[in-house]
Amino acid sequence: MTIRSFGELGIIEPITRVLAANNYTHPTPIQLSAIPPLLEGKDMLGIAQTGTGKTAAFALPILQKLFQTQKPYILRSARALILAPTRELAVQITDNCNDYGKYLSMRHCVIFGGVSQGPQVHYMSKGVDLLIATPGRLLDLINQGHVSLKEVQFLVLDEADRMLDMGFIHDIKKIIATIPKERQTMLFSATMPSSIDALAHRVLHNPVRVEVTPQVITVERIEQSVYSIRKSEKNALLITLLQDSGMHKVIVFSRTKHGANRILLQLENAGIVSAAIHGNKSQGARQKALEGFKNGKVRVLVATDVVARGIDVDNVSHVINFDLPEEPESYVHRIGRTARAGAGGIAMAFCDETEGKLLRDIERTIQRSLTLMPAPQLMKMKPLAPSAQHHKPHGGGGSGRSRHGKPGASKGPNAHQLNRSERTRAANARRSGKA
Ligand code: AMP
Repeated sequence: MTIRSFGELGIIEPITRVLAANNYTHPTPIQLSAIPPLLEGKDMLGIAQTGTGKTAAFALPILQKLFQTQKPYILRSARALILAPTRELAVQITDNCNDYGKYLSMRHCVIFGGVSQGPQVHYMSKGVDLLIATPGRLLDLINQGHVSLKEVQFLVLDEADRMLDMGFIHDIKKIIATIPKERQTMLFSATMPSSIDALAHRVLHNPVRVEVTPQVITVERIEQSVYSIRKSEKNALLITLLQDSGMHKVIVFSRTKHGANRILLQLENAGIVSAAIHGNKSQGARQKALEGFKNGKVRVLVATDVVARGIDVDNVSHVINFDLPEEPESYVHRIGRTARAGAGGIAMAFCDETEGKLLRDIERTIQRSLTLMPAPQLMKMKPLAPSAQHHKPHGGGGSGRSRHGKPGASKGPNAHQLNRSERTRAANARRSGKA
């Protein structure tokens, strides 16, 4: 079988030069199937998740077409729009586009919530080629008259299933209603529930369907094990396992934001450099945590599913499922963080007395059993400082210090109340599907 090069797929030299410099020697399967029809102007339904090279699959043809049809900028307008579910993914796509389009001299803007809108409004005021945005803030800026999508010719809905899970469907419909019907549209989704099917019917016109199913391949490359452990002993197990210095870049998944905060507290107490990333964090804290993790300053990143999905960090040595996810598909996404770009990886799951059914669901989905590990001799946990017991960490930088400063300054609830209210919040979060 001859593997075609990017040039043979029709990608122009100023882009292939960057790809060669990035060691993209060959297109990935999704790039092979997606790039030619996208260059021809076809709509696309892509069933693929991150890790497959899907960003380049849609971004390269769009950048190329924008470059080949350059026009004067129109105030507050963009010619291409990529919608993504989370700020992290939006930033990641923007970084990729900046890189791929390095020699094309185009203007890109990224818009997301949780930060001041001023710089985004200012940047958009002169017009851009490509806009990457999360739906909520974008709709807000459209409603305020700061952004117009009347010039959009290319639209991408990335991780569409996640956007729907996060409750963005109404925002997405309102945004699309402001975009001309004459456009090229691409919808990418890791799964195809009926809601995505309905959205695809609504927004795509005679789409080419491309599908890559890396889950099975990814899952096969990852060593997967499970520890049967009491809920009350999960923290001790985590700290015990982390004594192994081979676990140098570890993502720990928690089902809830508050659970993530509690894990972070225990890690910091044990002197392990760690940070947390979840929906309650400010954008600055999230970026700082992610940067620290990427550059190796932070050894352990504690994350919830919503923000972790799609994050592209190289060389993650281990993924730990501190809580088993409610949806078995999330397990596949989580462990996929440790097998990026062809590498293998190690995933461990902690299954407590309440999670047997979740484990069975996961094993059914991945069609194999996780290796049951004997419980190691658990380390004795250092008691938390009194201030820490009441303190909900903010956790951006992994300093282990309370922001409230003085011991006892927190007005937090006692441990019993905390658990109860947290249980309620966790239940609510589970019901609304947000973490
Ligand atoms: P994505 O699925 O877009 O998140 O891409 C996953 C990872 O694969 C990213 O780190 C990309 O930089 C990398 N990548 C994308 N396309 C290629 C390629 N053709 N060759 C090598 N790496 C690639």
